[in-house]
Amino acid sequence: MDNGLNNSRNDFEFFQQLINGEKLDYLDSAATAQRPVSVLKAVSDFYRHDNANVHRSINTLSSRATDSYEAARDKVAGFIHAADSQSIVFTRSTTESLNLVARSFGDLVVTAGDEILISEMEHHSNLIPWQQLAQRKQAKLVYIGLQADGELNMTDLKRKLTSRTKIVAIAQVSNVLGTINPIKEIARLAHEQGAYMVVDGAQAAPHFAVDVQDLDADFYAFSGHKMLAPAGIGVLYGKKALLDQMPPVQFGGEMIDRVDEQSATWAAAPLKFEAGTPNIGGAIGLAAAIDYLQALGMDKIEAYEQDLMAIVLKGLSQIDGLTIYGPLDAAKHASVLAFNLGKLHAHDVATALDLQGIEVRAGDHCAQPLMHYLGISAAVRASFYFYNTRDDVDRLISGLQRTKEFFSNAAR
Ligand code: PMP
Repeated sequence: MDNGLNNSRNDFEFFQQLINGEKLDYLDSAATAQRPVSVLKAVSDFYRHDNANVHRSINTLSSRATDSYEAARDKVAGFIHAADSQSIVFTRSTTESLNLVARSFGDLVVTAGDEILISEMEHHSNLIPWQQLAQRKQAKLVYIGLQADGELNMTDLKRKLTSRTKIVAIAQVSNVLGTINPIKEIARLAHEQGAYMVVDGAQAAPHFAVDVQDLDADFYAFSGHKMLAPAGIGVLYGKKALLDQMPPVQFGGEMIDRVDEQSATWAAAPLKFEAGTPNIGGAIGLAAAIDYLQALGMDKIEAYEQDLMAIVLKGLSQIDGLTIYGPLDAAKHASVLAFNLGKLHAHDVATALDLQGIEVRAGDHCAQPLMHYLGISAAVRASFYFYNTRDDVDRLISGLQRTKEFFSNAAR
């Protein structure tokens, strides 16, 4: 199944190391992805040769830095098919993007008695900002239930989406279940009821092509560090007409138009949301990451990861006593896979895999309400990216078998 993507591993120095004396099997890209040399070089070139502050002074270096920063904004707009670069706000992360929408737009449109609709599978980043907004405004936070296979219960969604709903906020891909949610359809249903659609794209944008106009998302948030870019750079896409109405939430330099002693006016979006010196190197790294992903091809990445997921789902379903949370059909399952092995604690399984050089994550995955919903306190999560190979997947399967044998022998 080498369609050329496997060779990309050579672009990552990171994979050349041993972990606990074993070849590294990195299965934690949903937490953060690795960076290829081209991204590291773009960031380091910026700091070596072009480092200057943006949007401030008319000198050669500052205009060079500003040009690169704004070119990164254009690149991001192209990557998610936004109509206008000015609808791209640079933030620190998905978390900051979603907080910005909840604080600025949420405070603007939500009033007492309104409802905010989210799902039982949301990451805390797409839950707590809405919980806080509901508390501030005496609004109600309503949860859409899930089907037994971890897909969103669309009947429940249609029942709960009413004229009282002001905002619908849903992950395009669950960071635990790997479920791919039908955002386009949900956005259509939301708009029919006069509600706004906010999408948490943290686990989606790195893995398949996203078209925010086709989805008709009002807001779309994602993080650079999950798609090969440095940590500390994130994106909030918003429809320009909405961004224009929204008040800033942070105040200071760079975001103003005119300042008097007692009052001030704001720059136009997106700059009014980017107070202070932004993460210029991060934005440049994100542009290089997008170049890298686009050279591979997002459709190719999606198809390759689906093939890997089919193999891992099949392999894991043959391990006795292993429970998979989320859809069993690879076509409906993005590159995140959560499971538990019999009654073993997720942390013990992750530790046993770690000793074999297999790096997975264990815990509640910042989704405690989902853990309660599933009736568990923790799960193991393996997550994949285009640089993972068939060998990585085979090692996970055999590593789990070995872990199972080890603990059953120990129990004797
Ligand atoms: N939403 C989802 C679905 C995620 O997986 C994550 C990261 N685990 C986040 C939001 C938050 O991303 P960040 O920590 O980069 O803000």
